[in-house]
Amino acid sequence: MNRMISDLRAAGVGEVLVGEPLAPYTTWKIGGPADVLVIPKGKPELIETVKILYRHRAPYVTIGKGSNLLVTDKGVRGVVLKLGEGLNYVRFEGNLVYAGGAYYMIPLSLLAGREGLTGLEFAGGIPGTVGGAVFMNAGAHGSDMSRILKEAEVVLETGELVRLSNEETCSSVTDIPCCTKYAASSRKPCWNCNTAIEKKSGRRWPRSKIAG
Ligand SMILES: Cc1cc2nc3c(=O)[nH]c(=O)nc-3n(C[C@H](O)[C@H](O)[C@H](O)COP(=O)(O)OP(=O)(O)OC[C@H]3O[C@@H](n4cnc5c(N)ncnc54)[C@H](O)[C@@H]3O)c2cc1C
Repeated sequence: MNRMISDLRAAGVGEVLVGEPLAPYTTWKIGGPADVLVIPKGKPELIETVKILYRHRAPYVTIGKGSNLLVTDKGVRGVVLKLGEGLNYVRFEGNLVYAGGAYYMIPLSLLAGREGLTGLEFAGGIPGTVGGAVFMNAGAHGSDMSRILKEAEVVLETGELVRLSNEETCSSVTDIPCCTKYAASSRKPCWNCNTAIEKKSGRRWPRSKIAG
């Protein structure tokens, strides 16, 4: 474990916090310490982190905003990964939204409306990250991520970066949290999601009708 921590620090991947309490990283503000909490700064640093963890055969879990987590007072053994600021971005291009895995769903939904796009209205009350929403196949009001996701970029356990289609990410279109099934089997941190949403027909939403 010490060797792995030194390697992570030497590689300059971002914050490497030993014995860090997880309570501040969850919605319910409960939970004991992670042996190591790593917050890679961006995409290259995430890839490097995963490669180092793979080399050391270190167990890890990825967390988002912690809105669906109840962490025990005993904390988490091994490494906890949390995506850093470099993956907290959103970009609109035509009918597509490119959102980093660390970006929050609520502002994503609001901004999509402001851009005159439809498809993400269901996510206006989901208090998690894009990465967490893909993993959980978050949904509400009759829609969910599997219906709007075009593709997701995922870092495999070996550190290899792959781009998965909607079908590969969500192997089912039922209400089953398919992304959870997919990712749980292979512990992949999903860092980036390119979300396809359609242009809203007719005029744009009036700004005054959009909260925030
Ligand atoms: C008040 C409230 C309202 C909610 N309303 C809804 C709702 O309407 N619909 C709904 O579906 N959910 C709802 N939720 C649950 C929660 O917000 C969602 O499940 C959300 O998608 C979790 O995202 P997160 O970033 O907080 O993930 P976390 O809670 O941090 O993690 C959840 C799971 O996702 C995994 N994960 C997180 N980020 C990544 C990543 N980048 N790569 C790979 N795996 C990752 C974690 O390992 C964990 O297994 C609600 C929660 C609260 C507290």
